[in-house]
Amino acid sequence: MSGGLSTTGLVKRYGTIQALAGIDLEVPPGSVYGLVGPNGSGKTTALELIVGLRRPSAGLIDVGGIGERVAYCPDAAEFDPWLTASEVVTLSAGLIGRNVDDAKVKGALAQVGLGDATNRKVGGFSRGMLSRLNLGAALVCEPTLLVADEPAAALDPAGRWEVIELLGSLAGRTTVIVSSHNLNDVQRICDRVGVLAAGRLVYQGALRELLERAATALRVVVRQPTAPVVEALAAASWVTGVREEQPGVLIVEVSAMDAAEEGLPVVLAASGARLVEAGPAEGSLQEVFFQLTGTGPAGAGAQEG
Ligand code: ATP
Repeated sequence: MSGGLSTTGLVKRYGTIQALAGIDLEVPPGSVYGLVGPNGSGKTTALELIVGLRRPSAGLIDVGGIGERVAYCPDAAEFDPWLTASEVVTLSAGLIGRNVDDAKVKGALAQVGLGDATNRKVGGFSRGMLSRLNLGAALVCEPTLLVADEPAAALDPAGRWEVIELLGSLAGRTTVIVSSHNLNDVQRICDRVGVLAAGRLVYQGALRELLERAATALRVVVRQPTAPVVEALAAASWVTGVREEQPGVLIVEVSAMDAAEEGLPVVLAASGARLVEAGPAEGSLQEVFFQLTGTGPAGAGAQEG
């Protein structure tokens, strides 16, 4: 696999509304790229431009070496209700001129957790089942580039987990671009993210870098007694505050993450702590997202699109 997907100065206007104000996306081949942003920030527009469903007002899209077979899963897929799940998948493959045998169709449906529903008419499918079918109809085409708009939005927590894991498992073989409001999903499977706010790309890069930038606190879980550990941490030069959120769960505010990563094992060892786990405090990606996009609980809904 060579060459990724890139856009240069991508602009989309709907009349007087500027949905995208010139974005430069860089999606490396084989990556799972998460496009995140508040409502109305331009995610769907960007995805529709990439797959050729809309024309840009200005700018270029280069699908490079990964655009040989492009599959798009829109956020609210609709299928003819009288078809069965296997007919939808067969039809989908047929649209790109592929004859698929029964085993392949069943395999695609099993992959998305619809193995028991192959012969059911899709008119009776729940929203969650339709989301899975949407993905199955794409996967049967063995796309080199899979673009999925909020693929797990209609799913319950277990279903969400499965579908997100499935997308993550494609990494390396298929380039995946997935839009989501759910930062936990993005955090779990995406190696690279683009953050959109009001049609502008306000961050693009490795998720790890964003997390490092986001992390201002560590969550340290230790066995009791915690008092000596709290005292030792509070005395460290890189610690700006410590609180015990629950018994044994310490939230350690830090001034610099690299100093904290170096200093934490030293302080824990010196205080005789019995460590259960340590890592960036939860919610940090969400905080940086709020910062980058100018949203947050107080302004929630302000950018409704
Ligand atoms: P959401 O998270 O709510 O799905 P989004 O990030 O996918 O939003 P888009 O749907 O791309 O954002 O919309 C970006 C902007 O373009 C919004 O202001 C929206 O109202 C506007 N827009 C989108 N589609 C159209 C259209 N067909 N005609 C006019 N304006 C549109």
